[in-house]
Amino acid sequence: METTIKVVCCECGANLGFKAGGTSPYGNVSHGLCNSCAHHFYAQLGMPLNEYLEGLLVPVVAVNQKGTITTANQKAFDLLNKTPDQVQGFCGGDVFECEYAKLPEGCGQTIHCSGCTIRNTVMETMQTGSPHQWVPAYLDQHSETGPHPIDLFVSTEKRGDLVFLRIEEIEEISPEKSANSNC
Ligand SMILES: [Zn+2]
Repeated sequence: METTIKVVCCECGANLGFKAGGTSPYGNVSHGLCNSCAHHFYAQLGMPLNEYLEGLLVPVVAVNQKGTITTANQKAFDLLNKTPDQVQGFCGGDVFECEYAKLPEGCGQTIHCSGCTIRNTVMETMQTGSPHQWVPAYLDQHSETGPHPIDLFVSTEKRGDLVFLRIEEIEEISPEKSANSNC
């Protein structure tokens, strides 16, 4: 059955209209970037946001002040085995299949989140503007048999209102696991 999906700006929430067909894991909502936000990032980066991200040689996701992933580059979509619609507008824990993001409290609100190196590094850069390089972190990835720990190294950098989170090195994420997103 054909459905209509509402498209909203993943940065400011502006309504960008409707598109027909398809399904989005976020209900009947998909995400884009409005002209105003696109111009803002052009001014900050000297080039379009997507072009900047694609020019980076490692997977990178852009996180806004609410801790939501605004967009990411193709290397990140490939690493996560997700489409842009499965990444844009979601919090980091859901996108990275964090075990604790599945709890009723949600990503950023559980008792485990205060110790999350990835979240703390992103938020520290958001607040201070200081970049971090090659921070050792780990992720308890959700799996049928319980949390599956994954080691990774991340770097952060703030541009405009966004923090770019670079995945410098990571233990491979199992495609079958990351395909089972269920936000
Ligand atoms: Zn916008």
